[in-house]
Amino acid sequence: MNSRDQALLDEVEALLAMTSHQGHPLRSALERLYHHHLEQRERLERLVSIADGFQQTAQQDLHATRHQLQRQLKRQRKLSRIADRYQDLLHERNQTLEDVSTRDPLTGLANRRHLTKHLDCMAADKRQAGPLSLAMVDIDHFKRINDRHGHAAGDRALVALAQTLKSALRANDLCGRWGGEEFLLVLPDTGLDQAEALVRRLGERLRGLDLRLGAERLVLTASIGIAEHHPGEDYRDTIYRADQALLDAKREGRDRWCLAE
Ligand code: GH3
Ligand code: MG
Ligand code: MG
Repeated sequence: MNSRDQALLDEVEALLAMTSHQGHPLRSALERLYHHHLEQRERLERLVSIADGFQQTAQQDLHATRHQLQRQLKRQRKLSRIADRYQDLLHERNQTLEDVSTRDPLTGLANRRHLTKHLDCMAADKRQAGPLSLAMVDIDHFKRINDRHGHAAGDRALVALAQTLKSALRANDLCGRWGGEEFLLVLPDTGLDQAEALVRRLGERLRGLDLRLGAERLVLTASIGIAEHHPGEDYRDTIYRADQALLDAKREGRDRWCLAE
């Protein structure tokens, strides 16, 4: 209430209190109007106070809700960070599993399982139209290396051979460890002539390998059987023919390649 309103009320109250106005015809109406006004004012003040209370509660609720939302948001962010980390971990684990199931742990090359799967996929791929050759590589007298220099030296020789094989191949070729000291080369778009050229290059690199065991330089040689895949032939049969050609190379004195019939 402003000061003018209060001054008016004070004036009316003073007039009503004056005995000289007793019995005046307007006094009773003025007195009722005065009390009515006081009641209205009181009611208004109550309403304002209730409204203030509501506003305060609403603000408190809003504040609490905002606080709760912020906490939830923080928790969600934390959860999503954990989920991200978990996913990364899962991805790493899958990668490791994939590596374990497809790679040879010593040389890092494809293992036999992966080679077979690769050949199965090639057999199922109807677009595979060009020639394809397989070469089976077997290190000569590898047992002697183990016997003379120890198993660890043998392992080092296997790793060196694997690196040489990898460096001699082209992007689309696949090379894997078939078993022990035997390696299989899968050479797409390669006829026998090209496979022979590649194997010749490989033999030269192998002989040039600088593999030192103490003071001694180890010379690695390999025998290789090459077979070209016949249209419609089962890959297992092509591998068998490459294996037979490899045996021929061993029989003929090793450190050479033979072509399958
Ligand atoms: P050949 O010229 O007739 O092939 O003779 P070889 O001695 O190479 O063949 P053989 O089959 O008699 O011996 C293969 C040897 O390869 C025997 C085995 O201990 C060795 N070998 C197989 N896997 C590994 C391996 O992972 N590490 C090592 N160090 N040696 C291995
Ligand atoms: Mg062997
Ligand atoms: Mg051997």
